[in-house]
Amino acid sequence: MSYREALRLLTARLKKVTNQPRFEAELLLAFVRKISREKLLLDDEKEIPPEEWKLLNDLCLQREIYKPMAYILQEKEFFGLKFFVNQHTLIPRPETEILVEEVLKHLQSRSNPQPISILDMGCGSGCIGLSLAHEYTGKAHYFLTDISFPALQVAKQNQKRLLPEKKIYFIAMNQLLGFSTTFDVIVSNPPYVTEQEYDRLQLEIQHFEPKQALVPSKNFFENLFASLNTHLSNKGVFFMETNPNFIEKHAKQLTEKGFFVQTIPDYTGQNHFIKAQWHPFRKL
Ligand code: GLN
Repeated sequence: MSYREALRLLTARLKKVTNQPRFEAELLLAFVRKISREKLLLDDEKEIPPEEWKLLNDLCLQREIYKPMAYILQEKEFFGLKFFVNQHTLIPRPETEILVEEVLKHLQSRSNPQPISILDMGCGSGCIGLSLAHEYTGKAHYFLTDISFPALQVAKQNQKRLLPEKKIYFIAMNQLLGFSTTFDVIVSNPPYVTEQEYDRLQLEIQHFEPKQALVPSKNFFENLFASLNTHLSNKGVFFMETNPNFIEKHAKQLTEKGFFVQTIPDYTGQNHFIKAQWHPFRKL
């Protein structure tokens, strides 16, 4: 069987699970052949070796039970970097790049020459913290935390792959509870999907992505907001992606804690991100 024929068969099979069957079939074939998608056409009349066909079938079966492409290819692009991902971490979402851009804007506007301490809480694959470390050229100390040890290992692997020369601290921790220091920037894409919303998410997400990274524990946000008092420095800024349905509530809770809060929309125009700075006149 030729590569071209293999691609045709694969595309037909993938029609049941995706609305981009041809594109995904090409990605799978390119992955198996270890070449870029663009090169596939060059020799598509060639016979496909049996071991490649076997592997391709295996990957296609995984996709047919709705495993997300990012987990099959073990890779997802975010902020121009290719992140290794597995089922212990959420797949980075394109809208989260807006959060990174907001933090970068803040970092680039600083005039203080002192190194800044930056914490990515609940880092998962490390996409937020490592993108910041990749983009920001100023002096900074980076701390990436996650409650999941296997997720932290993925983040560490990404650091080794993408930023081997940077010193980045990885800490297994729930929220900010184990720290006795303050940070100048705390950024987070925490779990923010409700149980009811979770039940209505795509099967791809429900069956394969870690629920712990999607659905928060009880009082998650109340506890987090309360701990900012001791963990965010006086001139510090807190950035968070959150549920558009609860963003007004979160903004109000933060305002009551003494923050000046801004909400930031995503590509669809929904407010999806929060930037919170201590109000200069807050009561200490
Ligand atoms: N935006 C994610 C989703 O679509 C949720 C991410 C999160 O809970 N932090 O499922």
